[in-house]
Amino acid sequence: MRRAINALTPALRSPVFRSPPRPRYIAYTAAAIFPFSLFSTTPNMSEQFKVNKSDAEWQAQLSPEQFRVLRRQGTERPGSHEFDKKDAAGVYTCAGCDAPLYTSNQKFASGCGWPAFFDTVPGAVLRREDNSNFMTRIEIVCANCGSHLGHVFKGEGYATPTDERHCVNGISLNFKGE
Ligand SMILES: [Zn+2]
Repeated sequence: MRRAINALTPALRSPVFRSPPRPRYIAYTAAAIFPFSLFSTTPNMSEQFKVNKSDAEWQAQLSPEQFRVLRRQGTERPGSHEFDKKDAAGVYTCAGCDAPLYTSNQKFASGCGWPAFFDTVPGAVLRREDNSNFMTRIEIVCANCGSHLGHVFKGEGYATPTDERHCVNGISLNFKGE
């Protein structure tokens, strides 16, 4: 009897082994629902940006947390950065290349836990579709060096001139007061 059960075991198990691993199945389903998931959103640094550095060069320049956010599309913990509530007059520049990205006049209190801006220094920020984490969002990056800033959301009802919220990691920015 025991031998008979053992003989059956491989047959019982085989459908499990033939099933695709669960993460791949979820990714496939997301791709079916959101066809743009099939296209990579990874920036091609060498072709698009004036400042073009290797990962080793970025790691030498940035802190490990900055590298994770700016160069690996990471997100800082909400409410963790002093720029979230900063309202001094000045310019916010890219922590990767120092290009001016936002002014304090474009900043507003969104309550979301990250610095929020309703507009940018003209031409300073590029947008790219981001399908990571099973969502479709618009990623924003520095137009000069391609460093990840955060995401932009539209139509949330904020009383700002654009009704857009550039949700930016504070660690992606430096501040220069007036
Ligand atoms: Zn930059």
